[in-house]
Amino acid sequence: MPRDPRFDILFEPVRIGPVTARNRFYQVPHCNGMGYRDPTALATMRGIKAEGGWAVVCTEQVEIHHTSEITPFIELRLWDDRDIPALRRMAEAVHAHGALAGIELCYNGMNGSNLYSREVPMGPAHLPVATFTYDPVQARAMSRRDIAALRRWHRAAAVRAKQAGFDIVYVYAGHALGGLHHFLSRRYNDRTDEYGGSLENRVRLLREVIEDTREAVGDRSAVAVRVTVDELLGDEGLSKAEMEDAFGLLGEVPDLWDLVLGSWEDDSRTSRFADEAFQEPFVTGFKRLTTKPVVGVGRFTSPDTMVRQVRAGILDLIGCARPSIADPFLPRKVEEGRVEDIRECIGCNICVSGDFTMSPIRCTQNPSMGEEWRRGWHPERIRPRASGARSLVVGGGPAGLEAAMMLGRRGYEVVLADGGQDLGGRVTREAKLPGLSAWGRVRDYRVYQIERMACVATYLASPLSADDVLAAGCSHVAVATGSAWRRDGVGRLHTRSVPFDPALPILTPDDLMAGVRPPGREVVVFDDDHYYMASVLAELLAAQGFRVRYVTMASRVADWTTHTMEQNRIQARLLELGIEVQTGRGLRAGADGAPETFCRFTGRVETPGCDALVLVTARLPDDTLYHALHARSADWSSAGIVRVDAIGDAWAPGTLAAAVYAGRRYAEEFDQPEHDGDTVPFLREITELAAAPPGTSHPPGPRDASPP
Ligand code: ADP
Ligand code: SF4
Repeated sequence: MPRDPRFDILFEPVRIGPVTARNRFYQVPHCNGMGYRDPTALATMRGIKAEGGWAVVCTEQVEIHHTSEITPFIELRLWDDRDIPALRRMAEAVHAHGALAGIELCYNGMNGSNLYSREVPMGPAHLPVATFTYDPVQARAMSRRDIAALRRWHRAAAVRAKQAGFDIVYVYAGHALGGLHHFLSRRYNDRTDEYGGSLENRVRLLREVIEDTREAVGDRSAVAVRVTVDELLGDEGLSKAEMEDAFGLLGEVPDLWDLVLGSWEDDSRTSRFADEAFQEPFVTGFKRLTTKPVVGVGRFTSPDTMVRQVRAGILDLIGCARPSIADPFLPRKVEEGRVEDIRECIGCNICVSGDFTMSPIRCTQNPSMGEEWRRGWHPERIRPRASGARSLVVGGGPAGLEAAMMLGRRGYEVVLADGGQDLGGRVTREAKLPGLSAWGRVRDYRVYQIERMACVATYLASPLSADDVLAAGCSHVAVATGSAWRRDGVGRLHTRSVPFDPALPILTPDDLMAGVRPPGREVVVFDDDHYYMASVLAELLAAQGFRVRYVTMASRVADWTTHTMEQNRIQARLLELGIEVQTGRGLRAGADGAPETFCRFTGRVETPGCDALVLVTARLPDDTLYHALHARSADWSSAGIVRVDAIGDAWAPGTLAAAVYAGRRYAEEFDQPEHDGDTVPFLREITELAAAPPGTSHPPGPRDASPP
């Protein structure tokens, strides 16, 4: 299909200093947990974005110097010439598909603790480092000599970036991550020299570094600057008005402005807390203050919203991190008139959790993310079928839908059966909970695709028994029947069933999602899961007038959501709703079976006295059908069955992302010989060993130590 003319504006080229972006789709820098550890995986992932039509594909933040590294986080490094080849690999992968490669040079300053290099971090002032992890490290105030050194290091990194082939070289002064941000902000900069005090003084270092960078690379590469347009700290920090004044001073100095809001946590909000384009009021107006192109983000997945940003004169380039992760082919789909094929980001921030857990990026919507090189998966393509297998997928939740869709894309004949009245499984139920409606996109994308596949037949209201499956005439069966929340209290805290009084009403998340409500008003929600579910249910019940007490052994509400950068907002929301939050407390049955809570530190006991308990502990796989089929394996060959697998939550309950991934993996591997588990089933990059120290054939270790 030709593209819709109303999106033509998105395909206009944009000049950025000495280079030209082929359209307005711009993959802004984003972390991915691969960085220096997995350079080829990273390069392959970025190359696929370029293949998908993005005009610009950027790195994540790149540490420019060993005095400014953010161990344990795994980003890219450009500490010296030895780092160039890994970066060149990425630039080449991006160029191979006609896109511009951007690199975000970052002097972390007081945002890095230098745990690896053990150098003392530096910043504008003597202050503790501003890390998420409250490291016991202080940065020291930079002298003029240090500032001169920083300028030299940044210039050297820019030269290396050019050697590596990058077309756009960033100066990072945003998100309170770049050290230059700290010089800009009154919150961190209390200097009395020419780099502190007035706005003119606070922008001085940024101006100098931009000018240095242009001198180093400007003949070939554009210089981009990423800044925070408002720190959202009121009088404490940078306000929009102050940044507008900064634009009055610097507006024409770089070739491109990349605008962000607050810290990373403020900017990359989940869909539970912010809608598409929520940054708009903060970003609006800056474009008028410069003739240079402006890029900004907003979890943009709707081409109409993108067009509006350009037409309204807010942005020139549509910046995307998460939408490009969920769908690396988003621009191509708009261009080819296939807007309804866009796999829209659901705003869950599982991608961010890769960075926070130092593991390769993953995405709920795009299971190939991070697997492009190591497993050879592509977001759009999958190898064609290799046999005449006919598959039965039982269960149309995220795992079953993904498996059926990808099997169909391979050209296999598929029967998808679900016992319910609609598809989507848990995602259909969870998307009805407060703040989670965007999660329904996991179902919507797949159902839309499957509906258009002649080789996939879907049957609803079809609960299948082992007999039904044996009679289905399918050679391969994927049991994707999901899981159920436990009612017996078993989970992390209690690994044995908890003897609560049988008269006490106990509800599970499944009950609440099915519309059951507690009798009475007083409810204790016990969060032994530590992800989103208990907090969402507490919110649901509080909004419906229940008096909710939220109890968790962790020190924070929904503790794991620090990895999705939601924890602060979730805790704030619970407190604002009047929910009584009890952290550091466990829940158990007292002698009479009544619930009691106890302090995890002192053991002090309280009896909450409630009308009902909501237990958010663990889940059990719904694997009845799987086991029933394996118990009938003697009947398989007469029924034509070759293989029966359980996938997704039916195999082991996990995140939505894990279920979707399991579906994809099934479709990739179901026709391969079953893996024996003895070898690593994916590629990995191994660090090249340095030469052994003289006189040894192996690195020094205990064997070389002198006897005591
Ligand atoms: P996952 O996250 O692993 O995809 P879900 O719980 O979301 O799991 O989905 C499981 C789906 O399987 C539900 O839609 C449910 O109706 C369906 N289901 C469970 N048991 C059967 C069965 N025996 N026959 C058909 N469908 C089933
Ligand atoms: Fe979007 Fe979630 Fe994928 Fe991140 S993990 S890109 S937030 S769908």
